[in-house]
Amino acid sequence: MYFSIFACLFILKKMIRLLNNYELTTYNTFGLRAYAKRFFEFTESEELSIFLQREKLPEKYLIMGGGSNLLFQSDFDGLVIFPNIPGVVEEHEDRSFTYLEAGAGVEWDELVRLSVHYGLGGLENLSLIPGKVGASPVQNIGAYGVEAKDRIHLVRAIDLATGQRLEFTNEQCRFAYRDSVFKNELKNKLVVTSVVFKLDKFPEFKLEYGALKQEVERLGEVNLVNIRQAVINIRESKLPDPQKLGNAGSFFKNPVIDAHVAQQIIDNYERVPHYQTPDEGKIKLAAGWLIEQCGWKGYRDGNVGVHADQALVLVNYGGAKGSELVQLANKIQTSVFDKFGVKLMPEVNIIGG
Ligand SMILES: Cc1cc2nc3c(=O)[nH]c(=O)nc-3n(C[C@H](O)[C@H](O)[C@H](O)COP(=O)(O)OP(=O)(O)OC[C@H]3O[C@@H](n4cnc5c(N)ncnc54)[C@H](O)[C@@H]3O)c2cc1C
Repeated sequence: MYFSIFACLFILKKMIRLLNNYELTTYNTFGLRAYAKRFFEFTESEELSIFLQREKLPEKYLIMGGGSNLLFQSDFDGLVIFPNIPGVVEEHEDRSFTYLEAGAGVEWDELVRLSVHYGLGGLENLSLIPGKVGASPVQNIGAYGVEAKDRIHLVRAIDLATGQRLEFTNEQCRFAYRDSVFKNELKNKLVVTSVVFKLDKFPEFKLEYGALKQEVERLGEVNLVNIRQAVINIRESKLPDPQKLGNAGSFFKNPVIDAHVAQQIIDNYERVPHYQTPDEGKIKLAAGWLIEQCGWKGYRDGNVGVHADQALVLVNYGGAKGSELVQLANKIQTSVFDKFGVKLMPEVNIIGG
């Protein structure tokens, strides 16, 4: 049985919508104009199971959260599945941890705000990441030395082929850097309906990454509220607000490459930022630095460009087509490969084309 201080924070309003030719421009943070042939929104997981019993799943479908990691190259000629499931409830607790279950449709940063408000530690470094809870395990979101995988206890989902409810333990999610089983074997096979997070009652803080420690100290005491605020301050100073300038955050993943190849680059360019990874024999390079070295930072071509302060962020200055962004991304990939021999892979999901 759920008991909860959290349950009362959300009014659980049931809603199902099935719409044709639905505009997605405000549903993607690039602000790209695109239409879905059909759009199915639901607020309870049962509705998806019922839908799957009644309708044959079309060949083309897309599971969508907040659209902050999507690039529409064209209209989407299929069904968009939009699991707008609300609610954050305390599922259970033990001496050290509180287990919160959050619906797939909860705004990620709202969950972080709530956890900090109730003094629960673990998500504070992930403040202000756009998107919804349902997508957080898919690409194992991360920032400031923390990844969603560090706090995900269970992922609940519905199998699109059978309508069955499934549950994945942290281990079964096979998390890796910006990666999980949901991006590989199970890509597009299931809809995440909720995620259970294991949060510290007695938080330990992670401040080693970047300028976080200095910013927290500037704000005062080291506590959850100040860490969250410090992360927000740093992110707001560095990253463009998608409400003002269309973007999807980091366009490319930081490449993780063989240590001996990385060493050759480090020998030639001693200032290249590089990091150890849990994989022995592999080094992670900063994609933004590689792109900057190729002269792309601040580049603009018509409606698209590379952000002036953040070379990893491609932007839509307004009215861009998805294909223009893809062309720019291709040029960047080619020039980084020509200069460093490193292949950049998009972090953003490119849809259609
Ligand atoms: C300004 C900005 C800053 C960002 N900073 C970061 C950062 O610091 N760290 C980071 O990791 N990411 C960052 N991102 C990327 C993005 O916020 C994350 O990838 C986020 O988790 C995407 O969530 P979403 O709900 O918008 O998912 P969407 O973009 O809608 O979807 C992303 C992928 O997840 C799948 N998906 C979505 N919901 C579900 C579901 N319920 N079930 C199954 N599959 C689903 C989609 O099919 C798609 O493949 C940033 C983006 C922006 C715009």
